[in-house]
Amino acid sequence: MEKFILAIDQGTTSSRAILFNKRGEKVAMAQRELPLLYPHHGWVEADPTQIWITVVDVINEVMINGDVRWDNIDSIGLTNQRETTIIWDKKTGRPIYNAIVWQSRQSAEICESFANSKEFIHARTGLLINPYFSASKIRFILDNVEGAQAKAEKGELLFGTIDTWIIYKLTNGKFHLTDTTNASRTMLFNIHTLKWDKELLDLFNIPAAILPKVKSCSDDYGTAAYFGRNVHIYGVAGDQQAALFGHNCFKAGECKNTYGTGCFMLMNTGDKPVMSRNGLLTTIAFDYGGKVYYALEGSIFIGGAAIQWLRDGLKAIKAAPESDVVASQVKNSDGVYFVPAFVGLGTPYWDDEVRGAMFGITRATTKAHIVRATLEAIAYQSKDVFDVMEKESKIHIKSLQVDGGATGSDILMQFQSDILQIDIKKPVCLETTALGAAYFAGLKSGFWKDVNDVKCTHSYKASYSPKMSPKEALKKVEGWKIAVQAATAFKLKD
Ligand code: ADP
Repeated sequence: MEKFILAIDQGTTSSRAILFNKRGEKVAMAQRELPLLYPHHGWVEADPTQIWITVVDVINEVMINGDVRWDNIDSIGLTNQRETTIIWDKKTGRPIYNAIVWQSRQSAEICESFANSKEFIHARTGLLINPYFSASKIRFILDNVEGAQAKAEKGELLFGTIDTWIIYKLTNGKFHLTDTTNASRTMLFNIHTLKWDKELLDLFNIPAAILPKVKSCSDDYGTAAYFGRNVHIYGVAGDQQAALFGHNCFKAGECKNTYGTGCFMLMNTGDKPVMSRNGLLTTIAFDYGGKVYYALEGSIFIGGAAIQWLRDGLKAIKAAPESDVVASQVKNSDGVYFVPAFVGLGTPYWDDEVRGAMFGITRATTKAHIVRATLEAIAYQSKDVFDVMEKESKIHIKSLQVDGGATGSDILMQFQSDILQIDIKKPVCLETTALGAAYFAGLKSGFWKDVNDVKCTHSYKASYSPKMSPKEALKKVEGWKIAVQAATAFKLKD
């Protein structure tokens, strides 16, 4: 009887379930959209019950789509949007507040009150104080739900990121667990000792009793008793880390970039954390086979979203794939630079106030130049992150693995290779996040013997090598730097 790994990928706007066979091929998939809630300006929440319902739905559907029974499932791998925070009642299992989504800014004021502890927090967690991470979200719920702090202190509440919540539901409330990658995004986890940090808990006044037990990415997380009594959850990792593993970036210096709405670049830095001074995050890459690997992470807020803006805002294209068709009408952007800082700039600038700008426009500029400049802007922003990563890790990156919707653009991928002057490799299976979770599960169960066995399932669909001379690439990047400087200088007074 053929066996499959069931991978669950619970993302910000949708939940997905995918069945993978031994060759690492996707044999069936199901997806459900997840509505987000915006109770106030800048707040982003989701209903934890809805999240669970979408997961139940996609599991049922993928089993039907794949025409498989629970006997066919070797084990489950779970990956999830990170940092999103849920607190529920230990006795009833009912959430006491909505899930606060990673994007939400509702705990910004709380973060400001901890600004003095910036260095201390960074040294222990590798993170920058920001509402993005779970600690201030937990504080928000305990402050704003009546009686919550007292209940938490009595051990009557449980906290979890999405992985923890889904494990809890899948196991019928039997297990309260998380993995090291998800724990490393809470701002309460010491990435050196690999334990919840007592002093951080004291700082945020968060009772240790609400925290889940932390396990490695390839470990026993109980059985999915809600569905198949004998099916084990054997793999758990946060989405970006799962993608790094899915790309087979097992060794120090191996690096991936995901070109989605935003872009996330992660580099495996081996068994030692590299503490950044230039706005990169230090985080756990994965914890597998008794070894912990660390990663540097850089984020770009507007990646594929710039293409969405061309489509919805500028109406320059009808659909995202048309960007390549239009951009290919010209050989280059003819000196046009676009800095898509719609919501500020992330790594390495961390400027919340800068806004988008376009430079170098002449009478000869056409829609095609602007579309091309938009694709190039995604590559330039990635180049900025890439440079900081190489500098801080002191590791020369030899090639970059890529995934995400915007890798559909050949022009973007070729230009990325040109300005980085390295090879870009796109795998056959672009569901690298779900595949990474499946790998963790399959390595625990013996579905795959070891990472060499996993490597046999990995192959590339396309690769791009530099066609531009190093001199020309340098000149283009210099132009980008001037454009960013100019955009940053432009700030209107209130
Ligand atoms: P997310 O997981 O963040 O929702 P996806 O990986 O699904 O993102 O990628 C969606 C993004 O990719 C969108 O912002 C879209 O504009 C962009 N995109 C999709 N296809 C293409 C394409 N062929 N060329 C350029 N951009 C694309």
